[in-house]
This record gives sequence, structure tokens and C-alpha cells, in this order.
Amino acid sequence: MSDEAVSNGAASNGAVSNGAVSNGAEALAVEGLVAGYGEVIALDGVTVTAAASGITAVLGANGAGKTTLLRAISGMIKPRRGRILLADHDVTGRSPEQIVRAGIAHVPEGQGVIPELTVEENLRIGMMSWRGKRAARGAAMEEEYARFKPLADRRRKLASTLSGGERQMLVIARALLARPRVLLLDEPSLGLAPRVMAQVMDLVVRLSREHGLTIVLVEQNARSALAIADHGVVLNLGRVVASADAATLAADVALRHHYLGF
Ligand code: ATP
Repeated sequence: MSDEAVSNGAASNGAVSNGAVSNGAEALAVEGLVAGYGEVIALDGVTVTAAASGITAVLGANGAGKTTLLRAISGMIKPRRGRILLADHDVTGRSPEQIVRAGIAHVPEGQGVIPELTVEENLRIGMMSWRGKRAARGAAMEEEYARFKPLADRRRKLASTLSGGERQMLVIARALLARPRVLLLDEPSLGLAPRVMAQVMDLVVRLSREHGLTIVLVEQNARSALAIADHGVVLNLGRVVASADAATLAADVALRHHYLGF
């Protein structure tokens, strides 16, 4: 069940033994990004920086451009202008596979599990870009099972049998198998009961604080996101309207009323 799945979370297995622990130098920088769909300009010159090993919340109403920002960073759509830098390394315009290899993993909105596959088959998808030996793959899988114990208990079960919280764990575990330095999370709390949502947020904190991942967290639920984030960026109609430390944004009553809905 989901509560246990989440609360066992990331703490059980020590540091992420995969290069994901930051040396403090890595960060993601998006500079003047313009992207869209045909005639639609969804991002109109967006600049966002995610500090290494920190949580950066990307907030804003429906249609603000949050999902498009993550899609552009992960190579799913090509930017029309601007740059995307990973630790000063320009990854703009790379394919999704190249972006994953560079160290950026994306957990899209909607949980993205394949219900007809088992938990283990879903996890294997996270290792598609691996070129390592079979034994190394097995060891990596066991690391994730140790980190997410309830997934280990259900490894041969179809993903369709998992609860919402467990599905969220599965997609995060799958993303971690790609050995990222930067994790892009699109609305991980969507559709979860409040208690499970709080546990997912707690897991996000541990991935950042204990395992050194740089996290970009897109959330409609601005209050919850700002409670765990270090920094926040507010988008509106494809533009950045505010960028500040999370506590400052949470205390800004006018901003909250206009853009954040609380
Ligand atoms: P939501 O929380 O509703 O997902 P969002 O902030 O993530 O909102 P985006 O999904 O990035 O916003 O959408 C930004 C703009 O791009 C919106 O005007 C949206 O209608 C448009 N858009 C998004 N996806 C597509 C698409 N596949 N084709 C055309 N327009 C799109």
C-alpha cells in the first residue's frame, strides 16, 4: 500500500551510489528559453536556475508553461531560442536519450507507469540507456528495491495493481535508475490523498538533502511545494513573474492571490 511505499522512501539505502551525489558544482540553468507548439508560444524567454542539491519549485496556474519547461529541458520539445546548461555544459537541442545520458531524468505528469507490465519490467525501462553488464543492472535494481521496499515485495505484480502512492514511487525509482544528477518532477502529488502527498514531498526532500540530487519540482499545489523548496519560480503565460527563495514567495500575499491560489 501506498503509505508504506512512500514512508520507506529513500532513506533506507544510504547515499545514491551512482554518481548522483552532488559535488556542489552541478546546477541546471535555463537561459531565455523560447518554446512552443506550432503557433503557440508556451515559453517566452524563460530564465530559471536550479541550485545544485536544492529543490527549485516551478509554480503557476494551468497553462503557465510549467510542463513545457520540463519537456524542453528533457529534450522532448526543441527550444526555438535560448540555452539549457547542465553544470556549464550546453545540452540545448539534444535528444531525450542524450539528455538522460547527460544526467537529467524526467518524471512526467500522470505517473507514466505501464499498467500491463510488472513492477520489474517497468523499472527495466529506466535502464534502457545503460550499456553496462547484466550483473551491474541487477545490482542497480536491487538498490532501488532496497530504497523502495514495498516495490521489492511487488516486483512480479502488474503495475496496474499498485496504489497511487506506489505508482509514484515506481516512476521515481525508474527515473533514479537512469543515474541522474538532476531530477525533473512534474506534479508528483497529482491525484494523491493528502497524507500520501505529504509522504511524496518528504521523499523529494530526502532525495535532495540526503542524496544530493538537484530537483526541479513542478506543482499546482504551491503551498506544499514552497514548504519544501529552497527556491521558487512563478510562471504566468510563459513568462517568469517572480523568482525568489521559497519563504519570500510564500509570504507574498499579493503574489499568492494572483498566481498561486492560496
Ligand atoms: P498545466 O498545469 O495545465 O499542465 P502548465 O503550466 O504545465 O499547465 P503547459 O502544459 O506547459 O502549462 O502549457 C503551456 C501552453 O502551451 C498552454 O497554452 C497550453 O495550452 C499549450 N500547450 C501545451 N501542450 C500543447 C500541445 N501539445 N499542443 C499545443 N499547445 C499546447
